[in-house]
Amino acid sequence: MGKYAANKATEPGLPEDPMSVPANIGHALALLGKKVFDFVFPEEEGCVLCGRVTDLRHAEEIFAALICHGCLSRIPFVQAPICQVCGRPLRGRRGDVGLPEHSKAGVDISLTQDMTPDTSLRMSQRQVEGVRIDTPGASGPTEVSDKVVCRDCDIEGRFFLRARAVGTYDGALKEIIREFKFYGRRDLAEGLGVLMAREAYREKSMRTCDIIVPVPLHPLRLAERGYNQAELLAKEVGACLGIRVQDSVERTVGPGEQNKVGRQLRRELVRGAFYVPYPAKVAGKRVLLVDDVITTGNTANESARILLRAGAAEVYVITAAISPFEQEWRMH
Ligand SMILES: [Zn+2]
Ligand SMILES: [Zn+2]
Repeated sequence: MGKYAANKATEPGLPEDPMSVPANIGHALALLGKKVFDFVFPEEEGCVLCGRVTDLRHAEEIFAALICHGCLSRIPFVQAPICQVCGRPLRGRRGDVGLPEHSKAGVDISLTQDMTPDTSLRMSQRQVEGVRIDTPGASGPTEVSDKVVCRDCDIEGRFFLRARAVGTYDGALKEIIREFKFYGRRDLAEGLGVLMAREAYREKSMRTCDIIVPVPLHPLRLAERGYNQAELLAKEVGACLGIRVQDSVERTVGPGEQNKVGRQLRRELVRGAFYVPYPAKVAGKRVLLVDDVITTGNTANESARILLRAGAAEVYVITAAISPFEQEWRMH
């Protein structure tokens, strides 16, 4: 606890000027103020990500959960321009035409520079203040009518209609997700879940889905970890949006061998890894698929394909994070 806190907690102020009113009235007012404060915000509550006890002046209330400004300022929220299909940030790619030769070869230098902590901090603060950056006329990604679509989505297509993520799999968000997945910190599902719900709520097509379906974990990995992180997130998102969670997809192939294999091979391994045991339960439904991280999008895509084949009407995807680079497709 406290790992993600950037600032020390500031105790809320109480009326403390006994000279201005008779002592007993001053005390009564202080007590009343405290009682009202405790009722509105019980003392034991804190930021759902770092646990720091705080109040609304230093935190934001998101679906009845408090997240402190320290945590919010450290999360690299996804910023426009993004691919309208998979939600991947396209920052730094819009200048493809004018980029120096060395940055065209592999890793996009301008994108890397965009991801320095200072920039992330500035951007997330803008996000906290609710100021959106306008999508500029993108020259790098493919534009289809007024939609901006990344190269992968444009060339390969997607079975899901739209995917969105809270932030890029980087910095504080990566730390939180790793703690959540690999170090048994199930409690972090609440903080991640409310942020995902907020993101999904911004899209009418997502907040009006009929059911929420978590991406399944392989049974062996489930036995090892004890919980499916996507399922915990799905429950939080479902509770926030008032949408029923339904475990509709199951997994057949272990993902262990997917480490360090080629992109094409990984796609082949994912293909056929999922099935829908009870198609009638998803038939005609608009599905919001939940996972922790999108890397290549292949897992989400394959889950969506299998749901559509089982009769689902539409599939959308919401995740806590998306890998910022097309090149960063490895297992996390
Ligand atoms: Zn916090
Ligand atoms: Zn895309």
